[in-house]
Amino acid sequence: MEQTSGSQILGATTLESSRLERLAARIETTGDGASLEVRTPVTDEAIGSVPSCTADDAAAAVERARSAQAAWERAPIDERAAILERFGDLVLKRREELLDIVQLETGKARHHAVEEVLDVPLTCSYYAANGSSILADADRSGAVPLASDATVTYDPVGVVGVISPWNYPLTLAMTDAIPALLAGNAVVCKPDERTPFIALALADLLAEAGLPDGLFQIVTGEGATVGPALIDEVDYVAFTGGTETGRTVAEQAGRSLIGCSLELGGKNPMVVLDDADPETAARGAVKGAFTNAGQLCLAPERIYVDERRYDEFLDAFVGATRRLELGLEFDYGPDVGSLIDGNHLEAVQEFVDDAVENGASLLSGGRARPDVGPFCYEPTILTDVDPDLRVACEETFGPVVTVHPVSGADEAIERANDTEYGLNASVWTTDHERGRKVAREIDYGTVCVNDPYTVGWAATDAPMGGFGDSGLGRRHGPEGLRRYVDARTVATSRIGPLDAPPGVSPRWFARFMFGLTKIQRRLVRWLP
Ligand code: NDP
Repeated sequence: MEQTSGSQILGATTLESSRLERLAARIETTGDGASLEVRTPVTDEAIGSVPSCTADDAAAAVERARSAQAAWERAPIDERAAILERFGDLVLKRREELLDIVQLETGKARHHAVEEVLDVPLTCSYYAANGSSILADADRSGAVPLASDATVTYDPVGVVGVISPWNYPLTLAMTDAIPALLAGNAVVCKPDERTPFIALALADLLAEAGLPDGLFQIVTGEGATVGPALIDEVDYVAFTGGTETGRTVAEQAGRSLIGCSLELGGKNPMVVLDDADPETAARGAVKGAFTNAGQLCLAPERIYVDERRYDEFLDAFVGATRRLELGLEFDYGPDVGSLIDGNHLEAVQEFVDDAVENGASLLSGGRARPDVGPFCYEPTILTDVDPDLRVACEETFGPVVTVHPVSGADEAIERANDTEYGLNASVWTTDHERGRKVAREIDYGTVCVNDPYTVGWAATDAPMGGFGDSGLGRRHGPEGLRRYVDARTVATSRIGPLDAPPGVSPRWFARFMFGLTKIQRRLVRWLP
């Protein structure tokens, strides 16, 4: 691809450079005016800059958010839901610009950026439709039947910090913010320093949808500075990123005694059973392993295929992979786009080189393609990979997948579970019931049958998150909303203090209570 200057590359999109400047101007900073250059992986050139916020800027953003939150919390939930629905509509309406910004900041193929745009309106609609019932006051059994009752109410925690990575910068800046806002919280979002403009474009649309000023703030800057400063000030942190950063976020949240959800890395397996259709499984493997050039936390990086299907599967998978077109167009042409930057390209190449030096066979790809784009890398399939090699057990986060024959479902399950991670897995079979049975043996937060990840991710009513080193807490579904509220129990006694009445000896009262407890234990089993 011909190298172009930053402004020329903007010419290939619907964007003007003044648009990016206006977006950067949304950020309030009192700092010394230092800025961070934002580069596009499409040509590795600067496309603009954003303020390099300081710890004080992060604290000030939280203070502004906190001031706005008090009134928002008092607004009826239907009013909050209507604003989020309008926001979802606007995201769909302005999709071309959003797709351009995502492609510009990440270099991903346009059809992969589409998945990001679709996620936001779906999440808005799900929470707008279900939020009020999920958060409705609930009557619970009282301590003593008839003599007391208990009601649970849900209060927003206050200000939620959302820290998001670069790989799905649109989805991951918003998908955790939507339920937080619906629950009556304010949000301060810290996007990855490589992808701030898409988060700013979403902030613009939230304002246009009618979100009151101050409720959704963005702080841009280096994670190591802005991240900890933000966590120090907020009441909850929703973090998405690498496992090691996640551990430091959890430690800090622990010291402040605030809640956190951690959506972290993975080493996801795909299990192809003996009754799977090899062509269908191969299509799934191509989509799973190479969407967003493999920079997807849910992507399969290890494929275990029943030896009775191995050759057919491999033929279909290698054939389809070799036909993939790498490219960087702001249109629906190419199948696969770029990696995020030069450091990541180098890391991916090291994984592959290490595997090949240690005896792995390269069936497709295995090399950078600077002729297509500065950080493009060919979709890569490796076999004969020793399970102890880095590429077989560490997250590669690139378009690289290893394929292993296995003797049957039991071995596939055992090898799928042989990891500290547990984010997303898939099972491939023509027997759905069998697929679901095998899925329950695989220790992952989501296990998809006959789809690599979309069917799980897009089920917004179902929780999503990781086991083990893949994280803590869940997004989506009722669980994704309830993490942002504090449950308050209001319990009433109709007979005064639950204690021995005047004149009743403690011995008699204890005897009465043991008897009552026996009855209560039976009632608990029988009553709904
Ligand atoms: P990082 O953990 O490096 O960065 C994620 C975010 O955290 C960025 O905004 C980063 O800022 C910020 N950050 C960096 N240091 C700190 C800190 N000390 N305190 C608080 N925030 C900090 O992730 P990667 O860039 O490596 O992203 C890819 C990883 O994310 C992969 O492991 C992938 O699997 C995982 N991921 C998980 C998902 C899930 O849902 N489970 C979804 C998508 C990705 P900055 O970069 O600006 O310095």
